[in-house]
Amino acid sequence: MLKKVEGIVIRTVDYGETNKILTLFTRETGKVGVMARGAKKPKSRLSAVSQLFVYGQYLYQHTSGLGGLNQGEIIDSFRSIRNDLFLTSYAAYAAELVDKLTEERKPNPYLFEMLYQVLHALDEEKDPEVVVFIFELKMLRVAGITPQLDRCANCGLPEGKFHFSINEGGLLCHRCLSVDPYHLPMTKRTAELLHLFAHIDLGRLGNISLKEETKKEIRHILNLYFDAYSGLYLKSKRFLDQLDKFKLE
Ligand SMILES: [Zn+2]
Repeated sequence: MLKKVEGIVIRTVDYGETNKILTLFTRETGKVGVMARGAKKPKSRLSAVSQLFVYGQYLYQHTSGLGGLNQGEIIDSFRSIRNDLFLTSYAAYAAELVDKLTEERKPNPYLFEMLYQVLHALDEEKDPEVVVFIFELKMLRVAGITPQLDRCANCGLPEGKFHFSINEGGLLCHRCLSVDPYHLPMTKRTAELLHLFAHIDLGRLGNISLKEETKKEIRHILNLYFDAYSGLYLKSKRFLDQLDKFKLE
């Protein structure tokens, strides 16, 4: 049966001399693998629609195994991302995160929309670090490991001077600091931003500018939290962290 879907290419693997296996994250069926025959040939009609991060309409043979891609039409190729190594790295991380946190053929239109919003925001040259903070916090929710950002994770009080506790899984107020000797100090601004980023709709993100120290603090907390709770080790993330260091030098 032929199936028409709206999808984003989140992974490509070369197969033989001329073919590519694409992993599409689709609005209709979630993650699905398709074989794009001849897509490695520059003149192939499947070549352009088989590039990483392309958002398009795809027509493929829907079978129990790997279906063949019949045709595709680009809706958005996110040209700015493609032309920029930094943006490409951020997009690669978002795509890998979606890939690792989803199973095949489980529709999740919310996640599809979010991935699209991330690529769109990166393409519009919104601050990529902020885009990724927001995306990561949403992905923690998808993975069922949302940190407690509304109130103290230990006593539940919403007021206080907050630190962050990886162990307790979220904010830790000044009254409860002894619960976790490894609590991470953070500014009030960081606490507010974490809360904001967990709730804001990426599509509504305006131009927000953060101090480097604030970004560093958020980055540090999210990295440790992800390492502790997600069980993921992503190549694209390691590369991003290296780029980050490079930028600071
Ligand atoms: Zn407390």
